[in-house]
Amino acid sequence: MDYIAVVTKKIEASKDYVSQLDAITGDGDHWANMNMGFQKLVESRAELEALPLGDLFKKIGMLIMSTVGGSSGVLYGSAYIGAAKTIGSAQVMDINLLCAVLDAKLTAIMARGNAKPGFKTMIDALAPAVANLKAALESGADEKTALTAMKKGAVAGMESTKAMEAVKGRATYQANKGVGHLDPGAVTMCYQLETLADCLGA
Ligand code: ADP
Ligand code: MG
Repeated sequence: MDYIAVVTKKIEASKDYVSQLDAITGDGDHWANMNMGFQKLVESRAELEALPLGDLFKKIGMLIMSTVGGSSGVLYGSAYIGAAKTIGSAQVMDINLLCAVLDAKLTAIMARGNAKPGFKTMIDALAPAVANLKAALESGADEKTALTAMKKGAVAGMESTKAMEAVKGRATYQANKGVGHLDPGAVTMCYQLETLADCLGA
């Protein structure tokens, strides 16, 4: 839950930057959507903290789905609900479960959005983060090294969206398909993954 509080602060602070990116490539509401979702989670803290892990993720998914408008509401809602299924009755979030959870989120977002890496979306920050985390764990890296690799993947993936032509999302309506601008959804996804790595690494 500390993670949620820290991400919320990070999102609050990025208002102008993220709103502007979505104004250029989309309809300008991405920051407001994400902020609304995280504010709702912060408000619901007491209720959420009482839940076992799987139910927690499911509830977060339902809260996001019902609070957040736009594509990101449906996509993040599906991601958390998909993650809840992977968690099942597990009680402890260790690094291996975290990897499985992020992978489940990625799978859910790709399925819901009918999108793949390279389409200039939030997937482009998440997919390389998951790939790096998986590879690090498979090679026997310690937790801190694995989290650093995950974070590097998220940042590099987010940066890679600048040169991409959008295949999904509102940036496809722009004449230049958003080329030359970061995808706002990849930016906020990267914030979440960076914060996760920092919170767990600490
Ligand atoms: P909307 O596009 O409906 O206004 P938001 O502005 O909240 O919703 O979210 C936009 C972000 O959602 C984009 O920057 C992109 O990262 C992501 N996105 C949009 N469509 C898809 C999709 N089909 N699959 C995955 N991500 C998507
Ligand atoms: Mg938008």
